[in-house]
Amino acid sequence: MTGDPIEIVNLRKEYGKFVAVNDLNLTIKKNSFTGLLGPNGAGKSTTLKILTHLINATSGQAYLNGIDVTVDPKSALTGVGTVIETPEFYPYLTPRETFRYVGGLIGMRREAIKSETDEILEKVKMTQWQDKRLGTFSKGMRQRIALGQALLNDPNIIILDEPTSGLDPRGMAEIREVLKNLRNDSRNLTIVMSSHILPEVEDLCDRIAFINHGTLLKDNEIGAFTNVDGILTMMIKLNRVPTEADVNRVSALGYVIRAERIGEEIAVSIKGTDMRIRSRLLEDIASMRMGVISFKEQDALEETYLDLIKESR
Ligand code: ADP
Ligand code: MG
Repeated sequence: MTGDPIEIVNLRKEYGKFVAVNDLNLTIKKNSFTGLLGPNGAGKSTTLKILTHLINATSGQAYLNGIDVTVDPKSALTGVGTVIETPEFYPYLTPRETFRYVGGLIGMRREAIKSETDEILEKVKMTQWQDKRLGTFSKGMRQRIALGQALLNDPNIIILDEPTSGLDPRGMAEIREVLKNLRNDSRNLTIVMSSHILPEVEDLCDRIAFINHGTLLKDNEIGAFTNVDGILTMMIKLNRVPTEADVNRVSALGYVIRAERIGEEIAVSIKGTDMRIRSRLLEDIASMRMGVISFKEQDALEETYLDLIKESR
């Protein structure tokens, strides 16, 4: 035991012969906002459903605040707020009444619910709608109520499964803003969120746990995945498919470490992230008159993600 808020040890879930979670080991650091990132079918939802005791594991342990949820789910889930799939709330209730109802279910006292409600409504930006019925709300608004009920009773862990999935762009942006505020304003809160959308994880999280086929591929701070060894890779697109000769001309430039064709683009690696060398590369390439139509920095995180998925295929 490490004292971290979530510790998953050799967690396994089999559906018949199919292994959805394959002896997963993952520790979620205290006060982190960790993105569980992986393609569809990676095992994210299955893992989070085991953590929140919606389904049982085949084997392994999952500790929440030091208590194994596979052994004592009730104690383990005290202090844990969850949103797994958009929950169905009673459509005739208002947000205020919904919180009173859910708070009662988790054993909170009336006064405690009452004193928390205003603050939570504020946090999820639903103050204006507090006395309207949920049945009239958009999916994004209901998702914000779901986040609100997860915040009842002052949890130190929040577990969210694809919280923006199925929302329109505005609904997505609102949930992300609520989550960002939560991350910035809370002192003792660990958030785990699954997503298959890299830019979303990049925007919100400070750590990423990449998973695929039910196993952990890599887990680190976001910064650790970008600009490895101070090498910058620029992606150059031409108005045609680049040829071997194009690549050779670029790699002949003295300061270029490596040039290669990747798909329709030429990837050019240069040492250092200095702006001067970058503009020199652009100018040199422009003077070659190869028909450049775009010149942009490679997204190192995206590259890592694609590499990891490719390797684990
Ligand atoms: P993710 O959330 O990362 O998209 P899931 O955890 O939902 O992935 O699913 C992981 C794998 O387990 C998928 O291949 C899925 O088809 C399979 N799976 C999930 N639930 C069941 C089930 N109840 N019965 C059989 N297979 C399932
Ligand atoms: Mg899922």
